[in-house]
Amino acid sequence: MKNIYNETLKSLELHLVDAGFKAFNAKQIFNWIYRHKVVDFDAMLNLSVKLRAYLNRTFTLEQLELFHKQVAADGTKKYLFKLTDDHLIEAVLMQHDYGKSLCVTTQVGCNIGCSFCASGLEKRVRNLTVAEMVMQVVGVEMVEQERVSHVVIMGTGEPFDNYDAVMDFIDIINNPHGFEIGARHITVSTSGIVPKIDAFAKRKTQVNLAISLHAPNDEIRSKLMKINDVYPMNALLASVRRYVDETNRRVTFEYILLAGVNDQIKHANLLSDKIRGINAYVNLIRYNPVLEFSYKPSQEEDAQAFHAQLLKRGINATLRKERGSDIDAACGQLRTKVKKQGV
Ligand code: SAH
Ligand code: SF4
Repeated sequence: MKNIYNETLKSLELHLVDAGFKAFNAKQIFNWIYRHKVVDFDAMLNLSVKLRAYLNRTFTLEQLELFHKQVAADGTKKYLFKLTDDHLIEAVLMQHDYGKSLCVTTQVGCNIGCSFCASGLEKRVRNLTVAEMVMQVVGVEMVEQERVSHVVIMGTGEPFDNYDAVMDFIDIINNPHGFEIGARHITVSTSGIVPKIDAFAKRKTQVNLAISLHAPNDEIRSKLMKINDVYPMNALLASVRRYVDETNRRVTFEYILLAGVNDQIKHANLLSDKIRGINAYVNLIRYNPVLEFSYKPSQEEDAQAFHAQLLKRGINATLRKERGSDIDAACGQLRTKVKKQGV
């Protein structure tokens, strides 16, 4: 039996029509499971008895098990969910003035293995299914009894290494009969898998694209992200330009400020030359230190000087506060801790 949270509206319609039911039943089911959070087909009272019986023998409505929840001083909440094969994944809920934003995980572990990232400490064990991504949103909404208004696909894993499932996930959370999270309220972040950036551009959606750049040149980027040896910066930035041309959307470059590595004025100058002319803004991120690595976050004055230098050179950039750092709410950290210390 398949978990129903794997189905897009389209695929559910096809299943239903195949089985002799009406396509519009799929909308009713979406409404029950995503609007009303009903977890029992028999409670879907506007469906025929025959359809409920079909659903019961074809699909499950199984949920993720909430294993642990932590709340940071700034209100950021971190959820650790247990998958049916006992792997633990995390999702992080951030409170903003514009709503609640959930950071969703796409893989168990990550094969990209960036040298600063806790998620990369563990090789990819497996991709998450569509349902396992959807259930992070369902689970958090159920626990909090509140609507998630924004989704950022920036948890553990490389979303474009699990491309098809991530696209179905976006389809489901964006669907007007489901969560109805607007495309402009959804952001997908990639370490820079060029062919998938091109494929994503062709979809011409309004979904936001963020690129983890983190360096002003190939030399530094290759040390931080070995994916740069496969897709060097020129190839990556060319694909970003194509994306902007095709979609007319502005991209975000994520740039973690690492003390002495990429945070000096000369790096800001190199970076601004590199990305000049691209419709983009740079999101400067404060590094959340990882025990196993020696990288340090930038000094406050270096971070501010870097930010000011980008602005001076005509590059849009923001420098934000780190959120939830007292509960290790950056990529992959709680999970590794639980494994080592057994919370
Ligand atoms: N794999 C994708 C998405 C998940 S990582 C990607 O790399 O884009 C989401 C973001 O968190 C990336 O920009 C990543 O570089 C950043 N990140 C990873 N570890 C971090 C840490 N310890 N502190 C701050 N940001 C971190
Ligand atoms: Fe994977 Fe992203 Fe972490 Fe790199 S930064 S190891 S791509 S999750």
